[in-house]
Amino acid sequence: MPAPIVVQVVVDKPLAQGFDYLWDKDLLGGLPEVGAIVEVPFGRTMLVGMVIKVSAYSDYESYKLKGVARVAPLPPLDPAVLRLMNFASQYYIHGLGETIIPTIPQMWKKPDDWEKIPQKLAADNEKKKKKTLSEVSEGFIDENRFNDGQKLALEKLRACPSSEFKAILLQGQTGSGKTAVFLNWLSGILKDTSAQVLLLVPEINLTPQLERRVRAYFPDKKMVVLHSGVSEKVRGIAWHAAMTGEAKIILGTRLAALTPMPNLRAIVIDEEHDPSYKQQDGIRYSARDLAVWRAHDLKIPILLASATPSLETWMAAKAGRYEYVRLDERAQGASLPQVHLINMRDPQTQFSPGDVDKPKSKSLITKTLANAVSKNLASKQQSLILINRRGYAPVLSCSACSWLSKCEQCTSYMVLHKAGALGRKSVLSCHHCGLVKAIPNHCPDCGNLDLTSLGQGTQKVEDSIEEMWPGARLLRVDTDSSRKSKGAEELFQEIHEGNVDIVVGTQMIAKGHDYQNIGLVAVLDADSRLFSQDFRAAERLFAQLVQVAGRAGRSNKSGEMGGAIYIETQFPEAAVFQFLLRHDVDGFLSFTANERKEAGLPPFAYQALIHAEAKSLDKAIRFLGGLKRHLKAEGHVSHGLRVYDPVPKAVMRVAGSERAQLLVESDDRKNLQEILEAMDRYLRENSQGRISKEGRIRWLIERDPISI
Ligand SMILES: [Zn+2]
Ligand SMILES: [Zn+2]
Repeated sequence: MPAPIVVQVVVDKPLAQGFDYLWDKDLLGGLPEVGAIVEVPFGRTMLVGMVIKVSAYSDYESYKLKGVARVAPLPPLDPAVLRLMNFASQYYIHGLGETIIPTIPQMWKKPDDWEKIPQKLAADNEKKKKKTLSEVSEGFIDENRFNDGQKLALEKLRACPSSEFKAILLQGQTGSGKTAVFLNWLSGILKDTSAQVLLLVPEINLTPQLERRVRAYFPDKKMVVLHSGVSEKVRGIAWHAAMTGEAKIILGTRLAALTPMPNLRAIVIDEEHDPSYKQQDGIRYSARDLAVWRAHDLKIPILLASATPSLETWMAAKAGRYEYVRLDERAQGASLPQVHLINMRDPQTQFSPGDVDKPKSKSLITKTLANAVSKNLASKQQSLILINRRGYAPVLSCSACSWLSKCEQCTSYMVLHKAGALGRKSVLSCHHCGLVKAIPNHCPDCGNLDLTSLGQGTQKVEDSIEEMWPGARLLRVDTDSSRKSKGAEELFQEIHEGNVDIVVGTQMIAKGHDYQNIGLVAVLDADSRLFSQDFRAAERLFAQLVQVAGRAGRSNKSGEMGGAIYIETQFPEAAVFQFLLRHDVDGFLSFTANERKEAGLPPFAYQALIHAEAKSLDKAIRFLGGLKRHLKAEGHVSHGLRVYDPVPKAVMRVAGSERAQLLVESDDRKNLQEILEAMDRYLRENSQGRISKEGRIRWLIERDPISI
């Protein structure tokens, strides 16, 4: 009897290992290959999985093994993308199967449809052939029209060898023409007719615009777009075109970073600092970090573009580990926007009771800002008003002096937890070190009794705008409005066509869009994000302010002035604002680097969070407390490693369950990896999947969290 063919298959379950199956080559029509997508019996159901190993041997008796049922009509995933998946699975402490399978589009996970897929693909190809001509393209800028800065940057990029790993930071002000530079660079790489390139953008809303530009540069290259907004069928076909090497340009959001591309030759990550590159559920990977790993593994160049690079990338460029290319001129010749800080503590900036134009309801809009908006309206330019309201737990502040609820044990700010969360009374808690304190009944600095939390009152801002400028055409843009009524693309079209005078929106409006007639940008509640439980909040705020300021005065229409940005704050002296005032990105980053170094925070330390979700907060906290005690008892907490006390999450209650987290910090990456692996083993032994047997607590380990 010939030796049986045994394959090891991983499935989408929180399991550390794969399972052995028999491979019947007559039934399946050929020999197995690593990377093949298959259907296998699993318990009482059938599941889609992937072959990770082929051998002639199993630890189990072969009569006990079940057989692979079907094979997908797909080439196997290429070895390089499997290396990437393996790395991601180990680094992010996540099962290999639950890392790989979710990256495969739904269309390829329905074995009953597998037979029909080849026909579908052929039909789709026919349709595409007819359609191609009508596709819009715009924004092509020939390198002959580049300014000197752009020419030099392109030269430097071209000097980088194409068959070596090289990470390149392309740092340039908003409006400096970064996109034109990297598209011209990519055109060199795409001269090789088999080459594929990957282009990542942080948000779905930014893809249509970039798609049109890429089409203009590469009318003959097949491009596919991959993000969560495209239909399952379209995504399935696009993914197939990428994994077979047929598509040469893959444009997408973070999920595209894990797409198989057998001939990948270069990667571009636009707005590399953007937090959207971090996946926030399932395997919590950073698409940017994985892309850098992938480029390193493949020995290809990767370009990271930003006006406000992340501290990690900027430091790597400064230290010479990354190539550093700068673009410091605005491409269209417009000057940088003027920055105005409105000190909200200064009575001069506020409406006084006698003012005729004073709004009836209490508003966040100061008199100074109101006057500026009115003036801007009169000059027939658009105003952009930015508000933020999600994601930050309130920090307590004194309305009379500048006291803030700073933690006395570390550099974080303590946040307010309402009664019932951490005890019968409201308390302040530090999300970094876990310290809990009673709320002071008066300001410790000046004795004032009026302590309020930062960031209150943004909800009513739209109403007060309507009241203050009844004649103006107002448009609200946020994720809710773009989902419900019109698509985001249509909303932006309204702005472009000048059908709107005032745009009010969340961070969505701040990113990348090429608005042409914005004369004024206003930021209303910067403070709640300046002082926060999260040490990265100031870095984020700075990046966002630079981005949003960059929306002002992008064209020469707004004259030589280059537009203006108004920021309302109680703390105009804060470093973030002072550096912004001088448009000093590097100054801000170097200031932040020093702060982090002193406090021993990333990138000078490495972090992981253990999330726990239970019926009650108390249970979640006790579970994490138990984990901490176990780690200490087993001697896992070595020198240079800190395991803090469990704390409730900033958004504590979600859909009937309550959530807490435990922070682990290490000076050394390897140490952290070891403790996380030990933790994972211990938790798995006492769990079913990721739910603890005792107490039914759902847990998850997150490496390199971007918010704490
Ligand atoms: Zn005070
Ligand atoms: Zn603390």
